[in-house]
Amino acid sequence: MVATQLDTAAIKTFGATLRGSVVTPGDPMYDETRQVWNAMIDRKPGLIARCSNAGDVVSAVNFARTHGLDVAIRGGGHNIAGNAVCDGGLMIDLSPMKAVHVDASARRATVEPGCTLGDFDAAAQAHALATPLGINSTTGVAGLTLGGGFGWLSRKHGMTVDNLISADVVTAEGKVVRASATESPDLFWGLRGGGGNFGVVTSFEFQLHPVGPNVLSGLIVFPFDQAKSVLTQFARFTEKMPDDLNVWMVTRKAPPLPFLPAEVHGKEIVALALCYAGDPKEGEKLIEPLRSFGTPYGEHVGVQPYTAWQQAFDPLLTPGARNYWKSHNFAQLSESALDAIIEYAGKLPSPLCEIFIGTIGGQTTRVAPDAMAYSSRDAKYVMNVHGRWETAAEDERCMAWAREFFAKSKPFASGGAYINFLTEDEAERIASAYGPTYKRLVEVKTKYDPANLFHMNQNIKPKA
Ligand SMILES: Cc1cc2nc3c(=O)[nH]c(=O)nc-3n(C[C@H](O)[C@H](O)[C@H](O)COP(=O)(O)OP(=O)(O)OC[C@H]3O[C@@H](n4cnc5c(N)ncnc54)[C@H](O)[C@@H]3O)c2cc1C
Repeated sequence: MVATQLDTAAIKTFGATLRGSVVTPGDPMYDETRQVWNAMIDRKPGLIARCSNAGDVVSAVNFARTHGLDVAIRGGGHNIAGNAVCDGGLMIDLSPMKAVHVDASARRATVEPGCTLGDFDAAAQAHALATPLGINSTTGVAGLTLGGGFGWLSRKHGMTVDNLISADVVTAEGKVVRASATESPDLFWGLRGGGGNFGVVTSFEFQLHPVGPNVLSGLIVFPFDQAKSVLTQFARFTEKMPDDLNVWMVTRKAPPLPFLPAEVHGKEIVALALCYAGDPKEGEKLIEPLRSFGTPYGEHVGVQPYTAWQQAFDPLLTPGARNYWKSHNFAQLSESALDAIIEYAGKLPSPLCEIFIGTIGGQTTRVAPDAMAYSSRDAKYVMNVHGRWETAAEDERCMAWAREFFAKSKPFASGGAYINFLTEDEAERIASAYGPTYKRLVEVKTKYDPANLFHMNQNIKPKA
């Protein structure tokens, strides 16, 4: 059933049960509320429930189930496949739920599902604490966590899911369940990497670690004609670096960064982005070799607040552009893989496209692959072919570039994939992306959501 076929009295009664509000097509807020980060997604839900608390979420889940509506769950709205929004059904919009409570002495935080990374980082950093999250402050904590989550701190403190202590979940039946190592442990296992398949999380509890509040971090930018030397040394260096240090690689056309000479703007570059999570003085010594990987165009490296570094890439990845991603995991970066990167970075189809290598490893690899749903413990690098452009006329060209490079680099990848980077058209990759834990995920899905109410996600189909 589509929500627009419901009678207005049913919608009115539903709205009256909520502390938050209901938004329908034609309401002034409708278009703004249904919009997600990726402008290629333009879906029109029949009804949007803007939830204020867990009670609203229970009412929304019950309403959707009773009326046979499709359900989409929106946290930060950054999912590339646009799973936060559905056509015709009910969008459960959690973005108004933004409370963060930090218990500094216990080093724990409870975080509501509408929080962005920026909301969480700011609250935790007031106490010089943090947990590993992604690298753009506008991303939602909820979707990122449920798919695994990684960023600058992951080599030292693991994946985001490695730091999840418990979660409150509204199940498909409309029950509120606490999931932790000791309460509904099967659900807790599935939530840590199984995406939004099992219910709506209304609260996350995380372990925090001392971080900063100032960290050594920044960018070193090299000319593209030095790519082979820079990438080869990057691959060797990152295999041996200590867990406190993280270095990512991105190759793209240079944005107008003030520390680069004007004539470099718009030219292909290779940039190393780094963050040292320990004493900045130690970090200075460790990062010195990076500068000799080539002859840099320029650099912007220094000690800055961790929260500032977490926002450093936000201007490059604002909402509203068209985006198409392809991603592989790598256990190591072979020469052939690097050659493929260089070949395709040499023919970027739009000035906004980029190829990046996010480095993980360290603590992310020291957890058993079956300890939780996220199983890619052999992945030391996550590559994202980031197709990004402005107009629909560029769609075919940019997507073809991303797909071609994806195929070319596949033989060097380790298998598995990061489910949070899968696009709309990758349904056939879902089981292999979850990898060895998929079979158990089907069991957990069948137990908690046998009718597949929650299917707008990297979907795990329950048993018939
Ligand atoms: C600019 C940008 C940068 C990124 N950088 C990183 C990075 O550095 N590291 C990284 O790990 N990932 C990164 N990602 C990927 C990111 O993890 C995913 O896009 C993730 O889905 C974002 O979560 P969200 O809450 O914003 O998304 P949404 O689109 O709101 O949600 C995505 C899906 O998660 C599920 N979901 C969301 N909230 C809930 C909930 N409360 N309960 C149950 N299910 C829920 C639903 O299935 C939903 O469809 C980045 C994405 C973008 C766009």
